[in-house]
Amino acid sequence: MTNAQKKKILTLKNEGNGYRKIAVLLSLPENSVKSFLRREYKQNEKPEICRNCNRKLEIIPKHRAKIFCCDNCRITYWRKMKKESKS
Ligand SMILES: [Zn+2]
Repeated sequence: MTNAQKKKILTLKNEGNGYRKIAVLLSLPENSVKSFLRREYKQNEKPEICRNCNRKLEIIPKHRAKIFCCDNCRITYWRKMKKESKS
């Protein structure tokens, strides 16, 4: 899924479209749309925990929500994701 598609999904969702309609409009599998949106909404939930080590994250007001406790976790996580998507 490209970043452009992700943006489009969020826009369409905000306009009140359902998963199925979004999937058809963007020619994506309905399940991809569904899991992307679920993930997206989870990200906005609080409290935040580090996606890599599950440690609770400090929330800094007026800052972008963090999803990792440190750079190390961020790098480890994305490295892991890359590996998984390749296989
Ligand atoms: Zn961590």
